[in-house]
Amino acid sequence: MLITNLSRAKGFVWLVGAGPGAADLITLRGLRLLQKAEAVICDELVNNALLQQCPPTCEIHFVGKRAGSHRATQPEINALLVKLAGAGRKIVRLKGGDPLIFGRAGEEMQVLRDAGIPFEIVPGVTAATAAGAVAGLPLTHRDHSSAVVFVTGHQCAANTAALDWGSLARLRATLCFYMGVRRLPEIARNLLAHGMSADMPLALVSEATLPAQKIQVGTLNDADKFSTELAGQPALVVIGEVVRLSSFAAEIPQLHAQVVAQE
Ligand code: SAH
Repeated sequence: MLITNLSRAKGFVWLVGAGPGAADLITLRGLRLLQKAEAVICDELVNNALLQQCPPTCEIHFVGKRAGSHRATQPEINALLVKLAGAGRKIVRLKGGDPLIFGRAGEEMQVLRDAGIPFEIVPGVTAATAAGAVAGLPLTHRDHSSAVVFVTGHQCAANTAALDWGSLARLRATLCFYMGVRRLPEIARNLLAHGMSADMPLALVSEATLPAQKIQVGTLNDADKFSTELAGQPALVVIGEVVRLSSFAAEIPQLHAQVVAQE
């Protein structure tokens, strides 16, 4: 039987999480890989300061939407991955946050498997934990929330059956909506329609860990207002009782009153 070592011939791909924004929130392993990469394929929400770590000879491919260039489609990105790694090179595929959370890593892993190209995943700090950190907001708490759910805002239109709103509303979990700002009014309407209380606290954290970071807290009642203020920025929506415990809850008398009452 002939055994060939494809990994020698085909190069290697590391799917690396760049973290939520601040350049020093990448892992040490991710940083070391950038420092010896032969090519980097870089997503839109990645802090570009990280690319200064790459060797001068490293080829950088931007595949997110930026001024003067179009956003590469997923098939185009897949083809680029296979082309570069197929030529025997060491590739870092750099993604915002963690590659496994709304990062299309599943699709890229499948393409690499199909092409016989070896890969490894390097986790990153995802937007939900970054948002919790900067808002002083515990995503779990023994008395208030025993689960965290990561939800995509892309499937939150009022008429879609993609999400089980009844379960989300009843779960007593912390709900973290990615890509959810534009859909926030629909998210609130769906949760209210399935029995969630209108004074359920809500935090909106935009550009977490970056200089433009903004944190707002309120309740489901405020959903319409938040949405129009923040359109266009990457922001995470956190809904759940734990928001009362955030460092910013005191700004909302209604939230604060309940915390004080519980103490
Ligand atoms: N893989 C990424 C998520 C990609 S989806 C991760 O693990 O974080 C992109 C969405 O992530 C954005 O629409 C926004 O909802 C969220 N996001 C990314 N960076 C963020 C940041 N710095 N602050 C708040 N939300 C962020």
